[in-house]
Amino acid sequence: MGVPPPTRAADRALTRPRRRTLAALAALAALLAVGGTVAYDLDTPDPAPADAPADEFSAGRAYQNVQAIATRPHPAGSPANDQVRAHVESVLRGLGLETTVQDTVAEEAGQLSGAAAGATLARVRNVVARLSGTDPTGKVFLVAHYDSVQSGPGGNDDAAGTSTILEVARALTAGPRPRNDVVFVLTDAEEACLCGASAFAADHPLAADGGVVLNLEARGSTGPVIMFETSRDNARLVDVFGRAAPHPVGTSFAVEIYRALPNDTDFTAFLDRAGFVGLNSAYIDGGAIYHTPLDTPAAMDRASLQQHGDNALGLAREFGRADLKDLGAGHDATYFPVPGGLARYPGWLVLPLALAALAAVLALGWLARRRGRTTYGRLAAGFGLALVPVVAAPLGAQLLWAGITAVRPGYAELLDPYRPTWYRLAVVALAAAILVAWYALTRRRVGPAALAIGGLGWLAVLGVVLAVLVPGGAYLTTLPALAGAAAGLVALASRIDGPWPVVAVTLAGAVAVVILLPPVVLLFPALGMAMGGIAALVAVLLGLAALPVLDLLHPEAGGQRGMVAARARRAGALPAVAAGLAAVVFAGVGLAVDRFDAAHPVPTHLMYALDAGTGQARWLSRETAPQPWTAGYVDGVTGVGDFPGLGDTELRTGPAQAANLPAPRLEILADTRSGEQRILRVRLTPQRPVRLATLHVDGATVVESATVNGRRVAGGRPADGADWGFGVVFHAPPPEGIEITLVLAGVSRPTMLRAMDASDGLDGIPGFRPRPPTVGVVGSHSSEMLAVARTYPV
Ligand SMILES: [Zn+2]
Repeated sequence: MGVPPPTRAADRALTRPRRRTLAALAALAALLAVGGTVAYDLDTPDPAPADAPADEFSAGRAYQNVQAIATRPHPAGSPANDQVRAHVESVLRGLGLETTVQDTVAEEAGQLSGAAAGATLARVRNVVARLSGTDPTGKVFLVAHYDSVQSGPGGNDDAAGTSTILEVARALTAGPRPRNDVVFVLTDAEEACLCGASAFAADHPLAADGGVVLNLEARGSTGPVIMFETSRDNARLVDVFGRAAPHPVGTSFAVEIYRALPNDTDFTAFLDRAGFVGLNSAYIDGGAIYHTPLDTPAAMDRASLQQHGDNALGLAREFGRADLKDLGAGHDATYFPVPGGLARYPGWLVLPLALAALAAVLALGWLARRRGRTTYGRLAAGFGLALVPVVAAPLGAQLLWAGITAVRPGYAELLDPYRPTWYRLAVVALAAAILVAWYALTRRRVGPAALAIGGLGWLAVLGVVLAVLVPGGAYLTTLPALAGAAAGLVALASRIDGPWPVVAVTLAGAVAVVILLPPVVLLFPALGMAMGGIAALVAVLLGLAALPVLDLLHPEAGGQRGMVAARARRAGALPAVAAGLAAVVFAGVGLAVDRFDAAHPVPTHLMYALDAGTGQARWLSRETAPQPWTAGYVDGVTGVGDFPGLGDTELRTGPAQAANLPAPRLEILADTRSGEQRILRVRLTPQRPVRLATLHVDGATVVESATVNGRRVAGGRPADGADWGFGVVFHAPPPEGIEITLVLAGVSRPTMLRAMDASDGLDGIPGFRPRPPTVGVVGSHSSEMLAVARTYPV
């Protein structure tokens, strides 16, 4: 492009060095102040001491329950879980609440982890306490699970939710009675199969008419409590959340992300049933300890506990006094945190706003050209080129993390590093480096106006795409695009050497910071470093929205007329080089700071599987690239189809010595034929303390239906070629065993049944050597599992 950029007037006005420097510093100071306010607003409150007033939530008091609950792993069915249940019951009874235990067998909600053909069930014992309202219009359910995983004591997951509910119950009983019934539901077997929540929602008399569910979780040890999931048509609920929760952190974008992730909580079991609406909240930072032995009370950030409690108590009081009818009527709202509260607007505004933003950006481009600030050619170039950082920054962040994981392979098994801050800063610095380098390379040729409008163009286009596909996330780009276009129009309409252009672009930059800084901060813990590219993408969108401010700060980008070309190039490249260097340094500091040691052990995964019929035993691991410790047990990947109860087809395996352990016993209680059907009634009884027992039918047999401990479950046709088909997975089996009735179709040969059970802990298995201190256990539902199986021909 030989024509000089049509930006002379602007450059002349703003390159009076003193004025430009002052304007740049003022704009920077304003944006830093806004950013600081946003970060402060997302911070957790100070924990209240144990002697806080009786009608308030105290993290100090709640923490005493955390310590009582999370002394050791307490999965559903374990003696340790019996003790936790007894504690929870006694606390609720001590408050004078009508407290009962729902003891039943329940099937998994929504068939999440069960066999493709078959059923997953558990024996559950939910603790349910009720505070009767004075004039109820409905019920409010406070829900958390008191069981933990087998691999850790659940100091956060979910002693946080359980203890929060116990302290909220105390605060509510200390004050005047609410108008509506408040029901405290401490569920069992969430970790196994959400079966406790499923049993309560489906079968408990108090759940018959539905109500408002507030589910409390923790998937980490620290950070703000995020309200990350709602029932559909959430506008009225979100409105209460914004008014009644003292620290309302939540965004409609999180709801959309969460729907796309394979996670589930007890909340799912309620949403599966008609009549329930509600909100799901958790803190999620510090995810490295999730489901591991390190999830202890000591690991808990009591500020996060305080926020959980402040919000839960505020919401319980408000839903306790509100008219609960028609809470789920209406539409989905768009909402997001802003300093001092929760901004929200109705969902029907999403598409009109997105279209308005697009129209405003188009109008800006048209006016900028008319005023001689750019040309259509340059606008087209600006739009095309603005895509470069949008693609390059996420890609760069993913490559950076791939590089770091290559240096430290143990990260592959962690949700997030133990100390992720330096890595997060490295990703942000890398995104900044890419954006600034791109700006330095393109500004001279295309001009600042065309690049700024091109960036706003992508924000506006993304806003329309999101409005159609992911409406709850459209605000992220629509509002900055709208603010940026409005600022551009103001700047074009004002005197070029007056203060208004700077004020306008700074205000638009501030809007972008308020909207886009929280997702950058929250996406890192939500998705982990392995998906740091998403946070980098949002960071670059923030940079594009604030491009005119960047231009004020960095007029040398691409070189200024009148400067010596070589000097200009050097000055233009400086910020990009500095940011790139910062990214490298931050990544290096991260690697130096976050080493694996005894307090931050490298996660490893090991299981043991014994076939008691053949006497063959194997070590198994789910690690993708085994750590040296694990490699002492397993080598290549082999099929594990003979252990259908594990739910895997292939795992890393290695030979093991056979332990002297019994398989579950299978007794035939009845075997009858009626027409084309064979009806087989069996009892499966573990011969040792186990966490779960499974029974699978051979892959040639069609199971028409089945009954498990009196509960009818759907049958199933086996997948082609699989050795084992229909299966029952039963968590927390009672000592007397499980009675299963199978209705088999057209069987005239012996049927094979494969029985398996599994306990936790590998100590005492021949050949197992305890881990050295720097080697830890992966947070998973199968770490340290000891499975024993046997085939029974019947
Ligand atoms: Zn969990």
